[in-house]
Amino acid sequence: MYPIGMNDTSTASASCIFCKIVAGEIPAHKVYEDDTYLAFLDIRPLSPGHTLIIPKAHYRWVWDVEDIGSYFEVVRKIAKALQKISGTDEVHMKVIGEEIEHAHVWVFPAPDKAHGKKDDFAANVVALRSALANEQVINIRC
Ligand SMILES: [Zn+2]
Repeated sequence: MYPIGMNDTSTASASCIFCKIVAGEIPAHKVYEDDTYLAFLDIRPLSPGHTLIIPKAHYRWVWDVEDIGSYFEVVRKIAKALQKISGTDEVHMKVIGEEIEHAHVWVFPAPDKAHGKKDDFAANVVALRSALANEQVINIRC
């Protein structure tokens, strides 16, 4: 447990899967990365391009992230890219946070409306990166 507002990367990273993804210890299909946030494909997608957006620093809850405005600007970038590649403007967002105890936001196109194959990670990551590059907001480091 972490006190509200604490950013305890030192104790969290040892056991946290998302901290290990940030550290490069666990591979992920990275969609977007900047100094503060990372977006990657969910390994159990509900629809094609289902993406998780996380702060690189360990926060237990989305609501603990100090600069929530910049966080949700990144969430919106991913949602806009999903609108472009999925064939539907209906992009859903979920914030729950009970499975992995590191703040994360889900964005995914409406499962009954999206085009493409949800398990085709290679194609979906390329499509998303391309859509983001066309917005000139991409910054992948891998
Ligand atoms: Zn973590």
